[in-house]
Amino acid sequence: MGTHAGSCLCGAVAYEFDDPVVQFCYCHCPRCRKATGSAHASNIFVRPDQFRWTRGQEQVRRYDLPEAKRFAKCFCVTCGSPLPHATRAGDGVIIPAGSLDSDPGVKPQCGIWWSARAPWYLSTAELQQHEEGLR
Ligand SMILES: [Zn+2]
Ligand SMILES: [Zn+2]
Repeated sequence: MGTHAGSCLCGAVAYEFDDPVVQFCYCHCPRCRKATGSAHASNIFVRPDQFRWTRGQEQVRRYDLPEAKRFAKCFCVTCGSPLPHATRAGDGVIIPAGSLDSDPGVKPQCGIWWSARAPWYLSTAELQQHEEGLR
């Protein structure tokens, strides 16, 4: 059992959560693509009592998608990085795994909304990998 920390790109906001992770899934839905700018969200779910902000909570803004039953996102007002948000029902906190500062020690268990994945999606196993950036 341990505690894991995360933060936004500019460092103004930081948080931590305690093990155990309830669920860790990729979400391929179109809303998650828009919200992350990426092929899929990488979402860790924990209970509310496992989560706390440790810095800059006043810099966190929340957006609840009006037409959605539960879709929301939080982000840093300075750098725009995705940050954890509480579910509207108050029964959990969804943590964007890319904001973690270190290895949470767990891997994703599943992907959801596979039927709605981006038409251009390829698994990383199908791509030529470079240790660093292309010149
Ligand atoms: Zn920031
Ligand atoms: Zn989604």
